[in-house]
Amino acid sequence: MKIARRDFCKAALTIPLVAQTKADLYSGTQRKYPYFGRDENYKEFKIIEEGLKIVKIETFTKPKVGVVRIETDDGSIGYGQISPHEADFSTMILHSKIAKRFIGKDPANIDILVDNCIEANYKFPWTYVCRALTGMDTAIWDLYGKIKKKPVVELLGGQVRKITAYGSSMRRDITPEDEASRMVALRDSKGFTAFKLRVGTKTGHDVDQWPGRSEELVPTVRKALGEKIDLLVDANSCYTPPRAIALGRILEDNNVGFFEEPCPYWELEWTAEVAKKINVPIAGGEQDNDLAQWRRMINMNAVDIAQPDVCYIGGLTRALRVARMAHKTGKLCVPHSSHFSMVMVFTLHMLGAIPNSKYIEASIDDTSELNRESRAMYEPQLTVVDGKIMIPNGPGWGVTFKKDWLESAEYRKSE
Ligand SMILES: [Mg+2]
Repeated sequence: MKIARRDFCKAALTIPLVAQTKADLYSGTQRKYPYFGRDENYKEFKIIEEGLKIVKIETFTKPKVGVVRIETDDGSIGYGQISPHEADFSTMILHSKIAKRFIGKDPANIDILVDNCIEANYKFPWTYVCRALTGMDTAIWDLYGKIKKKPVVELLGGQVRKITAYGSSMRRDITPEDEASRMVALRDSKGFTAFKLRVGTKTGHDVDQWPGRSEELVPTVRKALGEKIDLLVDANSCYTPPRAIALGRILEDNNVGFFEEPCPYWELEWTAEVAKKINVPIAGGEQDNDLAQWRRMINMNAVDIAQPDVCYIGGLTRALRVARMAHKTGKLCVPHSSHFSMVMVFTLHMLGAIPNSKYIEASIDDTSELNRESRAMYEPQLTVVDGKIMIPNGPGWGVTFKKDWLESAEYRKSE
């Protein structure tokens, strides 16, 4: 019998809701996963025994980069790093909005601490909350390593080893010929087996640094380096799909390994369209710090290669969830690490433990203020030898922060 819509609505209104308890209403409707990038088989990290309490959080900050030191009630110490770029803003957020989620808490439960911190700041999602959270997450991982007397990579089931690096150009003001000749020199002096070029311009609305540069750059560098070197390109959100697809044909002809951020990164449908139409893997995600957005990106095949940034995303715990999501769908994870702050160290430890990576990004433009500060901040320095970088060995991150750098930075404390 067909029931008229009006009668149906009337009937629905007469259902005695009061007779149902809250438990009846919700029985069978709970859904725990996926949530914050966890999946149904996700196991929370349990690296140390429960029983300690975080009692002090100290920060040492310069405008570009900042260090976090945490202390527990038994005097154990862990060092981490706030996300670089406007680290002074992130430090302010750390002390005002993040520290209270960690002081007095047991560091053993890192997944819960990190997730609670995001939920508690739900009015202020992502960027600065994640940037500040990174300082806490990475300090706790260092604390674990110091307590267990193991490098972080071993806590994750991997081992200290060399990781292949790709030489990453940061320049667009350079001619194709000059870019090609400095890459040939680096191939021969440092043994790089892969390089990344910059095409288009940052969020550039289809406009190149100068007309024709990208179309000339890719074949010029390919010819100079030869076929044995992996060649990658990054458009930093420059193109609309038609323009990205047109350039994509040139990338296909030059056997390019991946095309990074071809379209404005927030336009997932555009990026997925490009991924579908060209025969070059699409890479992306360095700016993405929402793990539900990551799930969408991966499930709709907007990216073939996931590139979380350990510092932008909120730390190692969250970056590992992206690597896991990518692995489950047969995708690679090649994180963003465009300079020599602790992001490189964190990423090296991560890559030593995950099964689905290929190389670490290593800037070949070492002269920025951020790189100068990064180089002055910790030791030993990371160096590329035979195209590879060794994961720092030693408890935790395996590096030491320099006393003079810490003393010259702005100091703050929460306890
Ligand atoms: Mg990029």
